[in-house]
Amino acid sequence: MATTAAAVATMKTAQVPGPGAEFQIVEREIPEPGPGQVRIKVQACGVCHSDVFTKEGWWPGIQYPRVPGHEVVGIVHKVGAGVSGWTKGQRVGVGWHGGHDGTCRECRRGDFRNCRNLQVPGISYDGGYQQYMVAPAEALVAVPDSLTNVEAAPLLCAGITTYNALRHSGALPGDLVAVQGIGGLGHLGIQFAQKFGYQVAAVGRGPETAALAKKLGANWYIDSDTTDAAEALQQMGGARVILATAPSSQAMSALVNGLGPNGILMVIGAAAEPIEVTPVQLISGSKTIQGWASGTPADSEDTLRFAELSGVRPMIETYPLEEAAQAYARMMSGKAEFRVVLTMGE
Ligand SMILES: [Zn+2]
Ligand SMILES: [Zn+2]
Repeated sequence: MATTAAAVATMKTAQVPGPGAEFQIVEREIPEPGPGQVRIKVQACGVCHSDVFTKEGWWPGIQYPRVPGHEVVGIVHKVGAGVSGWTKGQRVGVGWHGGHDGTCRECRRGDFRNCRNLQVPGISYDGGYQQYMVAPAEALVAVPDSLTNVEAAPLLCAGITTYNALRHSGALPGDLVAVQGIGGLGHLGIQFAQKFGYQVAAVGRGPETAALAKKLGANWYIDSDTTDAAEALQQMGGARVILATAPSSQAMSALVNGLGPNGILMVIGAAAEPIEVTPVQLISGSKTIQGWASGTPADSEDTLRFAELSGVRPMIETYPLEEAAQAYARMMSGKAEFRVVLTMGE
């Protein structure tokens, strides 16, 4: 029919229609990149626990319908006006750091990670649970050829968070570093800690995780169900750093006494309950409790390159985009081993 308008190109999207609502698989028009943006043909997107902010509407001001996803890997499909340094066909990723304003006080000081107006894919704009997405150019991460799409995706949130928190923790090769929790974050944290040259103690619950923790690179496994983990760490001299990955404030509180002098409890597992600690626990031995959030796209590139060279890889379960609801439920069940990743097909 020569008289009809050109068919609008559409794509498949897994969207959340409103706070707390179920996922919908819908056809949408393929989005156009504006100035300073690129369109990515998504090939894989990790399903992260922080997608709960979008799914349940816990993020202030979030607009619906919204497409979650901030562990995105794909190829540049179209470059918007004014974008330099990225070309069509290039392999890229987008992680939690989905854009910064460049003008706030932190950005003016070069601290883009803590931008006051940080944009997060899947929250501030539609993320990677779809076949195409648009992202600001400053959010792009170059992805090394040797990592597959599904391997690289989880490294853009779970990977960078553990890698960056550890490399900024002050722990040096040879130091005792404990990784609390052997899950989506922890199984990567153990691998990075081992490759950084630390003495690695994994702290988990139950005997069945011991073999896996050691396979991932832990020198010791402490079963906190049957052992006082803080005491066990003290017997080893006290931890320089405890990377707290499992979102249990109670478990984190119980570990503070496992820190050695100048020790840091590095908190990355996002829990809502208070961590309980007395001033005396912190004063004695000059201890610190610190949080850490993700990193910049350049930090993501460091993470990917380090993983590429060292062999650190996420353990994953994959689902097709159409099964986003099942994939999300699997992630929320806490039973996935360990990161859930959506694949987009052609
Ligand atoms: Zn995440
Ligand atoms: Zn800023």
